Amino acid sequence: MGIHMERLAVLGGTPVRETPIFYGRQCIEDDDIEAVVRTLKSDLITCGPRVEELERKLCQVTGARYAVVVANGTAALHLAALTAGFEQGDEVIVSAITFAASANCVLYCGAKPVFADIRPDTYNIDPGAVRKLITPRTKGIVAVDFTGQAVEHDELRSICREYGLTLIEDAAHAIGTKYRNQPIGSIADMTCFSFHPVKTVTGGEGGAITTNDESLYRRLMRVRTHGITRCREEMVHPDDAKWYNEQVELGYNYRMTDFQAALLLSQLNKLPKFAARRKEITARYDQAFSQLPELYVQKELPESDTTRHLYVLRLKPERLTCTRREFYDALYAENTCPQVHYLPVYRHSYYEKLGYEKGLCPNAEKYYEESMSIPLYYSMTDSDVEDVIHAVNKVVEYYRR
Ligand SMILES: *Cc1c(COP(=O)(O)O)cnc(C)c1O
Repeated sequence: MGIHMERLAVLGGTPVRETPIFYGRQCIEDDDIEAVVRTLKSDLITCGPRVEELERKLCQVTGARYAVVVANGTAALHLAALTAGFEQGDEVIVSAITFAASANCVLYCGAKPVFADIRPDTYNIDPGAVRKLITPRTKGIVAVDFTGQAVEHDELRSICREYGLTLIEDAAHAIGTKYRNQPIGSIADMTCFSFHPVKTVTGGEGGAITTNDESLYRRLMRVRTHGITRCREEMVHPDDAKWYNEQVELGYNYRMTDFQAALLLSQLNKLPKFAARRKEITARYDQAFSQLPELYVQKELPESDTTRHLYVLRLKPERLTCTRREFYDALYAENTCPQVHYLPVYRHSYYEKLGYEKGLCPNAEKYYEESMSIPLYYSMTDSDVEDVIHAVNKVVEYYRR
């Protein structure tokens, strides 16, 4: 059966939309393109001035003292885990509902990810669950601001203080979010951002780590470029000639190009309008879906002033006659295409091979069985938003118990 046939087949009749709309999309405007072209025509297209300018801009946006720009969000997480000193024999507690990269970075360092369950209402890591998982081997936490909502920093900070743990915040969803009026990026020991095209601002690919700690910053800068330093105080043989660069540890090439940095600088100027529109759409969805007893609306903690990256539609299975799969297929057939974020990380077959088993995090597994993300991005028109609401209503009415 062709994809078109399949789409018409689910609820019958005409789909709510003629053309498909997807869960996320970048917004690239003429001035973004001009910024990239200007940089491409300049002398330095990598290791040039735009990357440093972007780092200064990220410090402004996040309130952090230091920012290190890297090739992508996964590289940011890898360098943060490395710099935190995670190594073989260590355990690091990771949110169960996240993109695999949040846990992979722990494996890159030879340490063991230990998955903490989520809160059933906010879907963020449950500080109570974290506490129960701490052992003498625990070295840190990777906490994810899932959908953009800030993690519970007060609780996590007191756990980290008590046990001497490093907090890495995976803020791939959360640029622009504030926790108790403090921007995300200036709170955890290290905060990692991603600038993939579905995220709120994009560089095509791109990532960054922010920190307030100078020694973490110096080490991050060094491992971004092979572990090679030009700083004489960091060298074993500082008295060699002027051209001398010394590799003092094993690092990587995780640099970003200057034309990506130029794109990101232009995009970050638009963060206020991007964030405002995302909030507006989120409020409209919340209002529409809170009227449907078949759906559960994500709880927003008052401490988090959220720039929402994902809008999660969560079904109450006891009120619907369909499975999540059928609901997903029906919405897809209406040309309002959802996506599922995320399979609990330890349910990936790779993690199963490492020995993780089903049943580890019951809230995360239940969440996964009932949820899907619906379209949310800056350039959606009001009529796009109403189409999505119309399609959700149509599918809910059809499958209402
Ligand atoms: C996107 C994302 C990443 C990885 O970022 P990339 O830039 O794609 O490498 C990591 N964690 C979360 C939660 C993400 O959403």
